[in-house]
Amino acid sequence: MSSFDRFYINGDWVPAGSAHERLPVLNPTTEEAIAEVALASKDDIDRAVDAAQRALPSWSSTEPKKRAQYLHAIADAIEQNVDGIAAVLTEDVGVPTKFAQDVQVGWTIQYFRDAANALSDIEFESAYGDSAIVRREPVGVVAAITPWNFPLMQSAAKVAPALAAGCTVVLKPSEVAPLSLFSLAEIASEVGLPAGVLNIATGYGPEIGEHLVCHPGVNAVSFTGSTRAGTRIAALAAADVKRVTLELGGKSAGVVLPGADIEQAARATLLDCYLNSGQKCVAQTRLLVPRSQLEAAESTTKAVAQKLTVGDPADPSVDVGPVVSAAQLARVRDHIIRAEESGAQLIVGGADSPANLGRGYFVRPTVFSSVTTDMPLAQEEVFGPVLAILPYDTVDEAIEIANDSEYGLGGGVWAKTRDEGIAIARKIRTGQVAINGAIPTPDLPFGGFKKSGYGREGGAYAVNEFLEIKTIY
Ligand code: NAD
Repeated sequence: MSSFDRFYINGDWVPAGSAHERLPVLNPTTEEAIAEVALASKDDIDRAVDAAQRALPSWSSTEPKKRAQYLHAIADAIEQNVDGIAAVLTEDVGVPTKFAQDVQVGWTIQYFRDAANALSDIEFESAYGDSAIVRREPVGVVAAITPWNFPLMQSAAKVAPALAAGCTVVLKPSEVAPLSLFSLAEIASEVGLPAGVLNIATGYGPEIGEHLVCHPGVNAVSFTGSTRAGTRIAALAAADVKRVTLELGGKSAGVVLPGADIEQAARATLLDCYLNSGQKCVAQTRLLVPRSQLEAAESTTKAVAQKLTVGDPADPSVDVGPVVSAAQLARVRDHIIRAEESGAQLIVGGADSPANLGRGYFVRPTVFSSVTTDMPLAQEEVFGPVLAILPYDTVDEAIEIANDSEYGLGGGVWAKTRDEGIAIARKIRTGQVAINGAIPTPDLPFGGFKKSGYGREGGAYAVNEFLEIKTIY
């Protein structure tokens, strides 16, 4: 079992003192401890913020071209060890190896490249006629706080654009699945990123996370996680008028329009919902179908779900791995039990464990039908492989149901023509909408409406979140 008893602060591995609390990291497939990490104290966070503050003047005045070189060097180094880092994610999060390689690590690389490339398009200083100069200056020291479901990728989505903008960063990853971030710290050190530009320390959210958010040396906070923690962070940051970006939960709808290919739409929406064992903020967890197509949607999703292999995510034939922890398993099961109690019709799956697996935090791929908007399953984020099918009678009603959510993160429209799909997508109040199963790229703006948060990640949009605008006239 590996022991991670150091923090990456000021370009160095700083040992955690003997008084530090240690937390075992469990492999969700075996339920066995694979590592032990030290949890940062408030003093460690103070040291990290101090290092980031001291590094700021030099890093923020480093030529954007030079900053881009560092970001590409980080991307290159990750690219050289995709399999190794993906294996860490498979053990730590329970994500199937191929998905870990292609998406969790693949998008991480792309976030670093896109942030670097965005620098050539950003005018850091421009003349405004003869009368003024408009400058874009880094916001300062950024606190980045990230969740366990895409631990490395979500961290890269913040770290890369913040560094590109000329900010320095203190990253606090989730204590539930922190191991891949040690790889990132090693890479930062290997490529010679100047000391203090990126600092990483693990620790509990309510204690260390809040200390970081409230630290007077922090100028901006970029958070991805639950709406519960996000609202708390925004309230704390408001006391000092710190800039905040929030990427929070979702309950996204896939709307199948009359005339669309119902089987293709049902199949693709189900598979999207189950990616990362359903632990994906932007997952389309509600499938909205014309009432006349309900049976087709039910039979297709049932057939597809029954064919999926649930098991060890390191086995290439496995489609769905475990959820991340015993606590997450209990939450997902509770959602399934409450869905049944509220009158939703169980089509496939259920709250009991998959028959062939004696251990591990596994959930049976589950589909409920005849779900109505007043049921908890239509409103609450499950964060597990559970799809809700909701029938509708008119397209206007479908749009109403899609928008009947406190969240506004993602969604999809399935239509006979692209234009018809786009027309409906314009009416959906979310940060992104896919037409006919289109796959986004990491350079596109990503973020939420409503309680899914504010601010955008991805490419130049993300870099701009970390820039202040100054007018000299
Ligand atoms: P979480 O909110 O419990 O934790 C996220 C991070 O915040 C962790 O690092 C945690 O330690 C820290 N934290 C928790 N409470 C805090 C507090 N009071 N102050 C400061 N930091 C605090 O979320 P989670 O369980 O790790 O992740 C799952 C949630 O994240 C889901 O709701 C999911 O939808 C959301 N998510 C959103 C996106 C997005 O881009 N919109 C992406 C991934 C996950």
